[in-house]
Amino acid sequence: MPHLPSVDSLLRQPACAPLLARYGRSAVLGALRVLLDDLRGAMPVDALECSPNVLLGRLSERLITQHQPRVRRVFNLTGTVLHTNLGRALLPEEAIEAVQLAARYPLNLEFDLASGKRGDRDDLIEGLLRELTGAEAVTVVNNNAAAVLLALNSLGARKQGIISRGELIEIGGAFRIPDIMVRAGVKLHEVGTTNRTHARDYEAAINPRSGLLMRVHRSNYSIEGFTAQVPAAQLAGIARAHGLPLLEDLGSGSLLDLTRWGLPAEPTVRQALADGADIVTFSADKLLGGPQAGLIVGRKDLIAMIKKNPLKRALRVDKLTLAALEAVLGLYRDPDRLAERLPSLRLLTRPQADILAQAERVKASVAQAAGQGWEVTVVPALGMIGSGSQPVARLPSAALCLRPQVPRRLRGRQLLDLQTRLRALAIPVLGRVDDDALWLDLRQLDDEAAFLAQWAAL
Ligand SMILES: *Cc1c(COP(=O)(O)O)cnc(C)c1O
Repeated sequence: MPHLPSVDSLLRQPACAPLLARYGRSAVLGALRVLLDDLRGAMPVDALECSPNVLLGRLSERLITQHQPRVRRVFNLTGTVLHTNLGRALLPEEAIEAVQLAARYPLNLEFDLASGKRGDRDDLIEGLLRELTGAEAVTVVNNNAAAVLLALNSLGARKQGIISRGELIEIGGAFRIPDIMVRAGVKLHEVGTTNRTHARDYEAAINPRSGLLMRVHRSNYSIEGFTAQVPAAQLAGIARAHGLPLLEDLGSGSLLDLTRWGLPAEPTVRQALADGADIVTFSADKLLGGPQAGLIVGRKDLIAMIKKNPLKRALRVDKLTLAALEAVLGLYRDPDRLAERLPSLRLLTRPQADILAQAERVKASVAQAAGQGWEVTVVPALGMIGSGSQPVARLPSAALCLRPQVPRRLRGRQLLDLQTRLRALAIPVLGRVDDDALWLDLRQLDDEAAFLAQWAAL
């Protein structure tokens, strides 16, 4: 039975020096002890396994794995642009620079440079958001779910919140409007039916215990056929006549009319306010293309109430988010260049011909790396916006379709295998499986060279 070298002798090996320099003595020692314990548990192992060089090689592998960041860049070739599980919007360079600055130096986060007095962090983006939405006042929290919770709690706690049954939606990750209302301390008062709700339903529901009217944009599903929803302006009229605030959750919302870029129409925040919503909430990292945040805009007196709520302190955003948000909002001042400068808009509007041409360019390399067992073709594909925005809209795109050339019953195994290998790459590649094939939608393939270099390593 071969015996294992001692910890001390291994630490003294010249090959150990770079590991010590890189990871530090304590991490190397810890990993080495675990490695030797594992080997003792696996005895007998052959003598070669116990040689110092082999052991230090194993040690190095373990340390590399242990020290690899858990936050990893990936290639999102799923066809879904604003993929919630993959981090939604990518930030423009302007925002990345602003984040670096905010991370590296002290800043006027809550300090008014003009007066030298204490400031309010919302002031940093209030001017821009007012300009872009026409709102009287604004406040920012961690995400739109937080925005809805905070607005409901601030304006409707212990009172009834009137909402159509057709808008009691669930958004991914267990965010359900009825549950959020309950958590916000608002009593759910549902009106109408799933498919049809009328003005008279709201009118009839209003009573002395009513606290607010709520309208939720059905961002992630559509209802068709025999349907009726009260137009925003009419609902606002009802709310105003009874002295109740109308809270509108736009979900994604948009600061500009997206049809200008050939994208499906999405309600703009400015229009929702113009129609009479008193408070509008929306996400900063969906169609807006910014960092994760929830924006609350609307009437000054109501925003003041929201800002006074102690929950605001618990849900506020940090300096990095505010820095990124200001930079992204700044780009909206120049709509003509927005599609070049804002990555999410650039990706969403990328022409299909461009994606097809790219697919043709990379096809041969991918086919070669995939090997004999795979048929690789370039096919038109349909992508999605994602994040629940416009669930029925499809983005004409192009994909590499990898089809295993084996009998049908073996295809599932082959596909799982290939996906596992793609996820194990230095920059994991994520596609989608459909119809017994792996589809790599290239709409979001920006770094073609890095992508191709990896296939060689597959
Ligand atoms: C996405 C969405 C939310 C949640 O927004 P987050 O920013 O993900 O917290 C809330 N309401 C609607 C209608 C949405 O579409």
